[in-house]
Amino acid sequence: MLDLTFEPPKPKVISGAKAEWELVIGLEVHAQVASNSKLFSGASTGFGAEPNSHVAFVDAAMPGMLPVINEFCVAQAVRTGLGLKAEINLFSAFDRKNYFYPDLPQGYQISQLYHPIVGEGEVIVDMGPGVARRVRIERTHLEQDAGKSIHDMDPNMSFVDLNRTGVALMEIVSRPDLRGPEEAAAYVGKLRQILRYLGTCDGNMQNGNLRADVNVSICRPGAYETFRETGDHSVLGTRCEIKNMNSMRFIQAAIEYEARRQIAIVEDGGTVDQETRLYDPDKGETRSMRSKEEAHDYRYFPCPDLLPLEIEQAWVDEIAASLPELPDEKKARFVTEFGLTEYDASVLTAEVESAAYFEAVAQGRDGKAAANWVINELFGRLKKDDRDITDSPVSPAQLGGILDLIAAGDISGKIAKDLFEIVYTEGGDPAEIVAERGMKQVTDLGAIEKAVDEIIAANPAQVEKAKANPKLAGWFVGQVLKATGGKANPQAVNEIVARKLG
Ligand code: ADP
Ligand code: MG
Repeated sequence: MLDLTFEPPKPKVISGAKAEWELVIGLEVHAQVASNSKLFSGASTGFGAEPNSHVAFVDAAMPGMLPVINEFCVAQAVRTGLGLKAEINLFSAFDRKNYFYPDLPQGYQISQLYHPIVGEGEVIVDMGPGVARRVRIERTHLEQDAGKSIHDMDPNMSFVDLNRTGVALMEIVSRPDLRGPEEAAAYVGKLRQILRYLGTCDGNMQNGNLRADVNVSICRPGAYETFRETGDHSVLGTRCEIKNMNSMRFIQAAIEYEARRQIAIVEDGGTVDQETRLYDPDKGETRSMRSKEEAHDYRYFPCPDLLPLEIEQAWVDEIAASLPELPDEKKARFVTEFGLTEYDASVLTAEVESAAYFEAVAQGRDGKAAANWVINELFGRLKKDDRDITDSPVSPAQLGGILDLIAAGDISGKIAKDLFEIVYTEGGDPAEIVAERGMKQVTDLGAIEKAVDEIIAANPAQVEKAKANPKLAGWFVGQVLKATGGKANPQAVNEIVARKLG
């Protein structure tokens, strides 16, 4: 593993009108299980389908229909738990969380309150090279998603789309271990990265497949440390929960706004009401949605339609054996195996596809050069076209081919960039392109020497100046490279020019 410094969470300090305040944040992240069918029915989870076309009878709560647990979704929750270094509960159970909403035909959501499938775990959040925070995960449980109410399609009517009803969600609950907007966003980013590596959630925030309820409170300096020592929540401020955030940028803005709102209330002599709020990105503010409900308001009780979920350790072990290398481990390996800086390793491991691409290029080649080319040339070029590594027109084999030509001294770094552009836009085998288009570097010393002699003979005044000031030799090198169409080996040119000018 990398040698990380685990700094205690660094609180964001906000100066109010009267005092200094710190932030305390805990998140409940809802991650949609990457599964083709729903948690308790065989209906499709496909996004963007015709409204109400992916609805099984049980999703629509037709009388007499019974839920049947989807084993694949359970496996994904276990896999996620293992990725969060969490304890897996061999015994878990489903409860009914009762509430009324037009897009919830059952009148309850099937969730896991008393016996979640996954217990305590942790996420290591990177806060820049060498610095990390440990965020404790309290639990992860399986539950059903609700449907969607649509209020803005018709001035007189509301619509209900049940396609999402019953889709499996994993709710990942953190302890209140985050201390500022940046940390909270970095935590969501890291969680998303882990889920995507595991393949248990696609992490698509725009489609709502990963969204966070963000709990925010404020406290005076020192209170949080007391809480960490004693575990006593009452020393912290009253929290508000900002619902359904599906953008890192909005998460940060909402926390910032919410903290200042609470500070203003408390400094004015008021008290913060525990409530659920919504963030309005257009106005940049949060507003009250409902006063906070307690667990007992939902009349939770064990779901009589489902037996408790008992899984076997051998099955958990099997899933554990199939776990991929996770981001932290991959990053550490890239640093030690390929000699990368931690920063470069972070960039390359951000997405599992980029990491795989890099490894394919770096295998059997100079790791640092490979990292350089992937990060600076390839990522830069893809970004210009608003493309993704998954549809890169240059394959790892092609980029590797370019690196091989540089390493063999066949092309200079400059020509390599031209070659990269050709491969990017036209495709083809780099070595063949170099041969066909005469791009091969001239290492024939006689030819280079001849070119140097010509330049020297044509520029006697420059020669005099360069003899007095050796720094001007660079001008000759430039001229020679220009005369040879950039194909002369720059190192050879440098040496010959230096020798000729004395
Ligand atoms: P409840 O049982 O009412 O749902 P939990 O203790 O389960 O409350 O916490 C729900 C979420 O709120 C968790 O993510 C937790 O980290 C967070 N949280 C709890 N107390 C605070 C606080 N004082 N400030 C900010 N977040 C908090
Ligand atoms: Mg809770």
